[in-house]
Amino acid sequence: MSKWNMIIDVAECTNCQLCALAAMDEYVGNDWPGYAAPMPRHGHKWINILQKERGQAPTIDVAYVPTMCNHCDDAPCMKAATDGAIRKRDDGIVIIDPVKAKGQKQLVDACPYGHIWWNEELNLPQAWPFDAHLIDQGWQQTRGHQSCPTGAMRAIKVDDAEMDRMARDEGLEVMRPDLNTRPRVYYRNLWRYSTCFIAGSLSAEQNGVVDCVEGAKVRLMRAGQPVGETTSDNYGDFKFDKLAENSGAYTVEIEAPGGRKKTVEAKLGESISLGEIKL
Ligand code: SF4
Ligand code: SF4
Repeated sequence: MSKWNMIIDVAECTNCQLCALAAMDEYVGNDWPGYAAPMPRHGHKWINILQKERGQAPTIDVAYVPTMCNHCDDAPCMKAATDGAIRKRDDGIVIIDPVKAKGQKQLVDACPYGHIWWNEELNLPQAWPFDAHLIDQGWQQTRGHQSCPTGAMRAIKVDDAEMDRMARDEGLEVMRPDLNTRPRVYYRNLWRYSTCFIAGSLSAEQNGVVDCVEGAKVRLMRAGQPVGETTSDNYGDFKFDKLAENSGAYTVEIEAPGGRKKTVEAKLGESISLGEIKL
């Protein structure tokens, strides 16, 4: 049986916020009985775009990650709910019942992702319901999918075996797999948000002129073992990416054309731009 999933490409998200605005347009002031009570105009972010800036000048990049209820297959929120207030539909969508969930504030803390919001006025926990009221009218996309100008957000309905195959073949990841909640929201290029880089620019002085060093071999070593190798480009720049946060001490070994060598030590907490390295 096919079920709904979301695939989000972090490399394609520009933080235009149109998906978040579409969710507000759909839910603020609108009551969808059986699916969702109205979302408050202020304070809730049922679709929430996270932002991560990596590095320091001159090497900086920014990644944006749209997040929302993951419609987990093993949802901790369901276990914390009483009176069947949260249910999993056959198509994979998780619904917080807007009547049965009244007063169940404990559900806010039960979601380890922080995707359940408390509606003070209605005394109600709420989350993004995958636009299930539209899906049940025959929609093949969510409002966020429909409004995304870059194709970064895509809702797809496939059977679980096909989704597993896509995740494996395309290197899709879920948020916090260590929680074993089996999310149905998948990310492509999540490394742009979750990993670090070490970068630098090589220069050398010759006949009184400082110039970029192109074509230098740069090797990244960790605990005496090579973990990456690259060549500086025509600006003298090099970059090692997809390194784990807080992964500790690294050594950058540089060997430039003409035999000039240099070694630089780096300690990786978050991304590091080593700046200009004079050979
Ligand atoms: S993301 Fe949170 S609210 Fe959504 S299904 Fe998972 S545990 Fe429940
Ligand atoms: S609409 Fe698309 S590009 Fe814009 S913030 Fe949402 S996911 Fe990103």
